[in-house]
Amino acid sequence: MAKEFNLDSYIRKVPNFPKEGILFYDITSILAAPEAFQYCVECMVDIYKDKEIDAVAAIEARGFLFAAPFAARMGIPLLPIRKKGKLPGITLSKKYALEYAMAEIEVHQEDVPEGKRVLLLDDLIATGGTLNAARALLNAGGAEVPGIFGVVGLPFLNYEEFLAPTPIITLINYHGE
Ligand code: AMP
Repeated sequence: MAKEFNLDSYIRKVPNFPKEGILFYDITSILAAPEAFQYCVECMVDIYKDKEIDAVAAIEARGFLFAAPFAARMGIPLLPIRKKGKLPGITLSKKYALEYAMAEIEVHQEDVPEGKRVLLLDDLIATGGTLNAARALLNAGGAEVPGIFGVVGLPFLNYEEFLAPTPIITLINYHGE
C-alpha cells in the first residue's frame, strides 16, 4: 500500500450542493481514477484482512461501489442496505429521522447472518444518522456490527459520539470549511 498517496487530490469538492451551504465531497472522481480507487480498496483490505469480519453491509448507493470490490477481495458476503421498496424479498426495515423528513432503509432478512460480525460501510460519514439506522437494522437481524468504515469522514459533525461505541475507520477526514 502506498503510504504517501494524496487521496485528497482525487476528491472533488462541490460548494452549495445539493443545497446552499453544503460542501459536497464527491467520490465519483475517485472512481474515475483507477489508481485512487485501487488505493482505497487496498487500504480497506489491509485494514480488515486480519480482523474477524464475516460479511460487509453497505449503504445505497455510493457505499456499494466500495463494498463490492472489497467483498470480492475479502471473500465475504455483501449485504446491500437499500431505500424502502427496492428489495424484492422479505425485509427488515428501519425508519429514521433526516434533517427535515423521515427515511426508511431495508435489508433482506435472510441475508443477515445471525450471530456473525458484519462490517458496516458507506462512502462518507457525515452525521452518522444513516449508519446508526443501518446498525440497528443489522442488530435487529441478530448480527453484530464490530466496526464502521467510511472512505471520507466529517468528524466535525460529531458522528464518533453519535455512533459510539462502534469503532470507526476512515481513510481521510475533513474538518469543515
Ligand atoms: P449522514 O447520515 O448524515 O452520515 O449522511 C448520509 C449520506 O449523505 C452519506 O451516505 C453520504 O454519502 C451523504 N453525504 C452527507 N453529507 C455529505 C457531504 N458533505 N458530501 C458528500 N456526501 C454527503
